Amino acid sequence: MHTFAYARPATLAEAVALLEAHGPAARLLAGGTDLVIRLRDGTARPAVVIDVKQIAELRPAIHEDGGRLVISAGTVMTDVASDERVRRSFPALAEAAAVVGSVQIRNRATLAGNVCNASPAADTAPSLLVYDAAVVAEGPDGTRRIPVDDFFVRSGVTTLARGEIVTAIELPLPARKMGAVHMRRTRRRGHDLASVTLCCGVDEVEVTRLAYGSVGPRPVLMIDESGVLADPAATDEAKAPIFERMFADASPSPRSMRASPEYRLAMLRVLGARALRTAIDRLAQG
Ligand SMILES: Cc1cc2nc3c(=O)[nH]c(=O)nc-3n(C[C@H](O)[C@H](O)[C@H](O)COP(=O)(O)OP(=O)(O)OC[C@H]3O[C@@H](n4cnc5c(N)ncnc54)[C@H](O)[C@@H]3O)c2cc1C
Repeated sequence: MHTFAYARPATLAEAVALLEAHGPAARLLAGGTDLVIRLRDGTARPAVVIDVKQIAELRPAIHEDGGRLVISAGTVMTDVASDERVRRSFPALAEAAAVVGSVQIRNRATLAGNVCNASPAADTAPSLLVYDAAVVAEGPDGTRRIPVDDFFVRSGVTTLARGEIVTAIELPLPARKMGAVHMRRTRRRGHDLASVTLCCGVDEVEVTRLAYGSVGPRPVLMIDESGVLADPAATDEAKAPIFERMFADASPSPRSMRASPEYRLAMLRVLGARALRTAIDRLAQG
């Protein structure tokens, strides 16, 4: 393994100062389920690794604050998936967190790390997009709230600026009833990255939010306000052109070894239609 310095700051200010001083030569370490693999295979070669687990502000915690559910950057998937407030208000996020990797991975992997790693296949990204979540970042110029849709650029690249560290993910508590579901397609049962990962949410004023990943350089959010997708009585023929518009941004890589572009695009349509039906049913069930 490539040699690197290791720092374990106790305060956020110290971490920000280290990040600012080292720039792209520094990498933050949370659960390490992405980073340690990259350190081992040499695809990440930082000069310094900054372990964030001793920073008080990042300690695992989920709490409500001013109409938002705040999930601190140290919170792992197991706790996201089992939290009663997440399950009640953001069930599709709980479902997504519950399928990440294996029990061992979920006990280490943080929600913030999943987002910051910016993999197009990140399972929590579609539900965070559907629920209109924001990434809270602390940096040399203070605090920024970045809508998740403005956060992803491409695999491994986000809009975080030099010196910024993610402290939390915030989700606005829903003002309207919504039925939502997370679905994904993997090559096999057990732990595997998704060939398609998708979330669909339908709310009581018939707005449909559909987000999908693993079919292009970054996860995509599309919104249908026509009411046609949300209408249980609308025919498949009426829905088809709207679905096609929503899937127009999918551009799977032909170089992926996980699935061909044709398969991913076909599965995107199957899962999209299936998730829409489930979201409508869940909305009806309250
Ligand atoms: C066997 C296996 C199976 C997996 N299966 C899945 C799966 O099914 N679905 C899925 O989505 N993912 C899967 N993953 C990927 C991984 O578990 C997730 O992406 C995880 O959530 C990353 O979180 P972490 O805390 O381990 O991040 P780390 O590995 O510690 O960090 C990941 C990246 O985020 C950066 N980072 C971490 N915290 C912060 C912060 N607070 N501020 C700014 N940057 C930060 C790091 O510098 C690094 O670049 C799997 C991984 C493994 C090894």
